[in-house]
Amino acid sequence: MNLSDKVALVTGGSRGIGRAIAIRLAEEGANVALCARNVEAAESVEAEIKDMGRKCCVFKADVSDSQQADSMIKSVIEELGSLYAVVNNAGITRDNLLLRMKDDEWDAVIKTNLNGSFNCARSAAKALIKARCGRIINITSVVGLQGNAGQVNYAASKAGMIGLTKSLARELGSRSVTVNAVAPGLVPDTGMTDELSDEVMQGMLSQVPLGRPGKPEDVANIVAFLASSRADYITGQVISVDGGMAM
Ligand code: NDP
Repeated sequence: MNLSDKVALVTGGSRGIGRAIAIRLAEEGANVALCARNVEAAESVEAEIKDMGRKCCVFKADVSDSQQADSMIKSVIEELGSLYAVVNNAGITRDNLLLRMKDDEWDAVIKTNLNGSFNCARSAAKALIKARCGRIINITSVVGLQGNAGQVNYAASKAGMIGLTKSLARELGSRSVTVNAVAPGLVPDTGMTDELSDEVMQGMLSQVPLGRPGKPEDVANIVAFLASSRADYITGQVISVDGGMAM
């Protein structure tokens, strides 16, 4: 799965699943760009990647803002020389039941998860089309496939990312740019799952045929495969990495 000298951008690469993806891509030889709103947390990831002998740059950007996303992608290309893969991983939750959900809880989740993926894909597409090769990998969720009570905003954003993935795969296929989505199940020990009670966690785990929660590395492995030339003929797909939770 050699990604030597290829440049990959991982949004939200400062921690959790994004961190594991960034490190995995670097292990395969990629030079990596990371972005987040708080860049301090990304510094240890940057150091780890540089220790492997790869290039790594950290950018402070809010992907929900199209101008910030655009200038961040331009800076990636300027500083690392090219762009091959974009992993739209940055995401947030603002859970609430529908009748209690506030406009700002809906807006924040849609703007970060869905608009953020659109913003980065649109800004990166020009370079990928010109290169006539590339990857866009969108990190959606089992919740985008199945829905989840208390998460209408998150489920809508993640289902939207699946529609975006399939449409973009059709648009960019003729330029040999593949677009796929990865749908993780329950991946604890990341910032996103901090607030889940043990009871909720056990309830979710009982729906996992493989009987264990996912690890960030489980997700990172499939992203590395999709980024590699071994996945040249795979596009427009949603690959679940959820221990069999959604089937
Ligand atoms: P974390 O909360 O641990 O990490 C989220 C990352 O996204 C951080 O680096 C954060 O940095 C960044 N981020 C958030 N908002 C923005 C923004 N507006 N602009 C730029 N960066 C941003 O989450 P996880 O690692 O758990 O989740 C990663 C992805 O995986 C998400 O898309 C999530 O929906 C998905 N997922 C997670 C599952 C899980 O169980 N953990 C299950 C299914 C899917 P900062 O706050 O500094 O900006």
